[in-house]
Amino acid sequence: MAAEESPDAAPGAASLARLDEIVSLCARRGIIWQSSEIYGGINGFWDYGPLGVELKNNLKALWWQRVVRERDDVEGLDSSIIAHPRTWEASGHVEHFSDPLVDCRACKKRVRADQLDDVGPCPARQGTSEHDWTPARNFNLMLRTQIGAQEDAASTAFLRAETCQSIFLDFKRVRESARQKIPFGIAQIGKSFRNEINPRNFTFRSREFEQAELEFFVHPSEREKWFAHWLAERLAFYRALGFDGERLRVRPHRPDELAHYARAASDIEFRFPFGWQEIEGVHDRGDWDLRRHSEFSGKDLSITDEETKERYTPMVIETSAGVDRSCLALLCNAYAEERLPDGETRSVLRLPASLAPIQVAVLPLAKKLAEPAIALAAVLRRRFAVFYDESGNIGRRYRRQDEVGTPFCVTIDFESAADGKVTLRERDSMAQQRVSTDGLIAALADRLVEGR
Ligand code: ATP
Repeated sequence: MAAEESPDAAPGAASLARLDEIVSLCARRGIIWQSSEIYGGINGFWDYGPLGVELKNNLKALWWQRVVRERDDVEGLDSSIIAHPRTWEASGHVEHFSDPLVDCRACKKRVRADQLDDVGPCPARQGTSEHDWTPARNFNLMLRTQIGAQEDAASTAFLRAETCQSIFLDFKRVRESARQKIPFGIAQIGKSFRNEINPRNFTFRSREFEQAELEFFVHPSEREKWFAHWLAERLAFYRALGFDGERLRVRPHRPDELAHYARAASDIEFRFPFGWQEIEGVHDRGDWDLRRHSEFSGKDLSITDEETKERYTPMVIETSAGVDRSCLALLCNAYAEERLPDGETRSVLRLPASLAPIQVAVLPLAKKLAEPAIALAAVLRRRFAVFYDESGNIGRRYRRQDEVGTPFCVTIDFESAADGKVTLRERDSMAQQRVSTDGLIAALADRLVEGR
């Protein structure tokens, strides 16, 4: 295996260049770009454009479908972003949620102390290019805000650093209202905020991002079983997105990496152009969270087993996925530059068909055919995400769709009116097939709804 193809090889310049290509494609085609661009951008914040919001929504809907809707032992939740400030004392975030930070006394650069290797030379020192670092100090990553008209310590609140804490606060309410028994889970998708010292690698490390989290509450004797269950489920989810063994792996945490209350934790990692990185964590959090919130709130969150009468605090198995990281992984996995037989190159996003922002593009061969094409697009729109395009030559229109991952193009030509047929063109193989307009919806539904 060539060095640059080895899964453990450091990312080379070529693969980093590929990230640049993906970043530029995303901005050009309205998938993702930097927030507040017209003011010069704001570091660590991103906007999902017309195509990006579709991709992200499709991914979140798939997660919700698999984790919540297809199961009767998981309930959904949409809690507020700001919780009672005591929440973050109980969770340990006020005290411990920090990264080590150093400053260069010469050039004033501020970086994470564990990322010094990635910092270039110091531009401000005479006779040396080495930085003059201060000793490391802890920098708390929670973003603060004020609530109400007073600006004092009592009105300070935090934007949540993870979505799961409200799940613990609402544990009793959800369990009782949904009449759930242990084992069961509560799932939530929503924004989280971390004042990351060095946001980087496109959306990978952002200051505002979305998480899709599940907290699954189990009897202490069943921790291992449920940890294995959820790790397997989550891996199957990513495999279904098309991430194969070359791109996906599990990295169990070493004992010295585990939080003091955790019995087990594994990262699900994806091989990005900038190396293997975590996209999701699966954690056995023990009874830490429910116990701490019981203690800090004075409300008992333990439960009584109706049959055995045993009283205990449930243990928590957590799956914590980053929606933005999964979207970025999808884009990296899908992006390809291909040389075609005619010598041209095309860039193509081989996204899973059901997640593609546009599922079907309707293209009349000539503007004269606009009327029946618009009518067909209107019918298809009821079932699929459709884009209509009548401008430019057909080859160029196909390329534009390939570039944003549209799995199917439907072309209406001058024979269509007479024979009731249209051309269905498939993105990956570029194969074209004439199909009857009547059978078109069924043919598309087969591939878009049932297919990946
Ligand atoms: P990292 O070590 O990369 O900072 P973490 O271990 O702190 O991540 P968790 O607290 O376990 O991450 O968060 C769960 C998931 O939330 C991560 O797997 C990731 O997908 C996502 N996530 C965490 N921090 C960020 C961020 N700054 N930007 C985007 N996604 C994030």
